[in-house]
Parts: sequence; structure tokens; C-alpha cells
Amino acid sequence: MPPSTTAHLAARQARVRQALDALSLDALVVTSATNVRYLTGHAGSAGLLVLTAKTAHLLVDFRYRDAVQMSQQSPGACPDLRTWEVPGSYDEALLGCLAAIGVSAIGFEAAHVTVATHEWWRTAADARRLAVAFRPTTAVVEQARAVKDASEIATLREAARRLDDVVRAAIGAVRAGVRERDVAAAIESALRAAGYERPAFDTIVASGPHSALPHHRAGERMLGSGDLVVLDFGGVLDGYCSDLTRTVAIGPLSPEARGLYAAVYEAQQAAVAAVRPGVETTAVDAAARQVLEARGLGAAFGHGTGHGLGLEIHEEPRITRPRSDLAPVPLVPGMVFTIEPGAYLSGFGGVRIEDDVLVTEDGCEVLTTAPRELQIL
Ligand code: ZN
Ligand code: ZN
Repeated sequence: MPPSTTAHLAARQARVRQALDALSLDALVVTSATNVRYLTGHAGSAGLLVLTAKTAHLLVDFRYRDAVQMSQQSPGACPDLRTWEVPGSYDEALLGCLAAIGVSAIGFEAAHVTVATHEWWRTAADARRLAVAFRPTTAVVEQARAVKDASEIATLREAARRLDDVVRAAIGAVRAGVRERDVAAAIESALRAAGYERPAFDTIVASGPHSALPHHRAGERMLGSGDLVVLDFGGVLDGYCSDLTRTVAIGPLSPEARGLYAAVYEAQQAAVAAVRPGVETTAVDAAARQVLEARGLGAAFGHGTGHGLGLEIHEEPRITRPRSDLAPVPLVPGMVFTIEPGAYLSGFGGVRIEDDVLVTEDGCEVLTTAPRELQIL
């Protein structure tokens, strides 16, 4: 698996710089730790980046100084990096950096800066007579992150591929008489055995009536015959997330439950078939939703069809119905997201089937390949 190289980081920074240019900004203050990692390779929990037209100014405290120096000797060294040591407060250090490098129109990530922090920056800049203007920006780095580069695709492909073994272990743990919690423990141990650094989120094992709750975690309920069992899990590999859902059943299974499975299966196939460059995110959602609506299950599908995957488990693009707060996005080769329609009947049970897909030049590659036909155990 090729790690991100200096060339990958340079290309990511170039895309963000183009956006800054279009917004007439001299610099972007990047406060999201995930965005800092994406642009510099610095994976510490603290760190601030000031990206200008020529330089990446990384502000870190002493805990990360040596780690940054070491990674600057590696093939993944951040290009044109200048490191600033933060002796005390990051906000103080940020103002010092901005004053020293002489930028005036400064963008910040509105989604990642509190009102209190922004107010402090403004007041402190005034007190120092700094001629700077802080301007809110929205999803500048997140939009760049939505389209993965070759190193990210290689990592995401491998992260998805390794779920095959975990699916086998998960299904092997499902039987009448075991608790949801026991199945979740088997899944998490299989994730570790497959080499993931950690689960990407709290593993979901939702059985019987619990399977009708899309975000049920895993509890004390004992699995029993006739249950639908939703298994939703993923692992983080080299920082990148994978995410997969399979619904299995413990026989004998009612015709209603089989029908529910068949409908979700068909909806999922329809959405995967709709994925290709130029198609809008809302059209992919509609492909799944129409199948379920045609079977009277429109109201049983209460969530979006999918979400982007990358350094975060939920990122751009969002595969949803048209929403007033979210413009539809045309798909572009290199986007990676989940396709996970579901149908949930309160008190009865639910089905969800989820795969990770990569948009290619002429369609998509399904990265998660575990069988998705109904398995009755
Ligand atoms: Zn999932
Ligand atoms: Zn998901």
C-alpha cells in the first residue's frame, strides 16, 4: 500500500490553494485535525495549519515537534513546510504567526472554530493593531477530500477488502442463544486480527425487533430463531475508514422478512447501478428510494442512501434526498462512499445492506465484496 508521498500532499495543497485564490484569500487557517492531517501528513491530535500561496505553516507544541521532524525525513514529507513551535496557547501562537508572515485576508473553517475563539482572534488582532480580516469559509478542504488521490484509493481499497474476513467471523458468531454483545465482541476481535488500528465506529449488532432501529448498538438481547440480524461494522486502516453492513437471519424466516430483504437487496443493487460520473448524489439516493417506495416501503427507509468515506467515517459526498441545506453534487471519479439503503418496520425488524464504492471513469468499483445474498443460518 503506497503511503501518501510529498507529491500527493503537494497536489492536495494545490487544490486548496486554487479555492483560496477564487475566494481572494491570502491564507487559510486549518483547525480541523483531520484536515491538517490530509494536507500535511501530521496526524497529531493537536496542531494548526496556516496554508498560504507558497508555504504550509504548521503550528505544533513540543509533544509533536520530534514526530514532525522525523516525518519530514520520510518520503511523505510535507512540501514547503515551516514548523512553528507553540510555547503556550495555540491562539496566541497563531496571531504571532499571522503577524510574522504578513497576510491580511485570512479564511478560517467556520464549521471548526467556535464563536468564542473567533471573537478572541478578532479582539487580540485589534489589540495588536494587526491589519487582518478573518473570513468564514465552508468545506474548502472537505471538498478537496471528497475526491480521493491514488494513495487514498489504494488504502481505502485495502481497508474494504480486509472486511471480507471480518464478515466471515461475524456470521460465524451469529446463532440462537448468543447475545448481541457477544457477536460485537467477535467482530471487534476479527477487526484487530485483520490488522485494522481500531473499529471505525461502535459496532452494530441489532437482532429481532432491534433490527428495526437503524442506530441500535449491541446489547444484552439473546438472538433467537426467526430473527433478522443487522451487522454493521468497519475498521480504520492507516487512518482511512471502511464500513459494511450485512443482514443475516436465523431460520426459520417468515415470508414477510424474506420480502423485506428482497426489497432492500433490489434497492441496493439499483443504487450501485446508478453510480457513474456526472450523476448527482440525489439521483443515486432516488434509485434506491424508488424501489422501496414501489413496494410500499418508502416510509420504512428514513435515512440517506450513503455517505462519503475517508479519514472520517462520515464525510463528503452525502448521498441523500434533496435537502435545503445540501446542494446535490455530481459524482466525480475518485469519490468513495457507501451505498446502504434499509427498511425498518417498528416492532417487526429491519434490513440494511451496505457496501463501499469507488466512482470510476465509467461507473463504479464495489470495494466491499462479501456475499450479499440472504443467508439464513
Ligand atoms: Zn455502516
Ligand atoms: Zn455507513
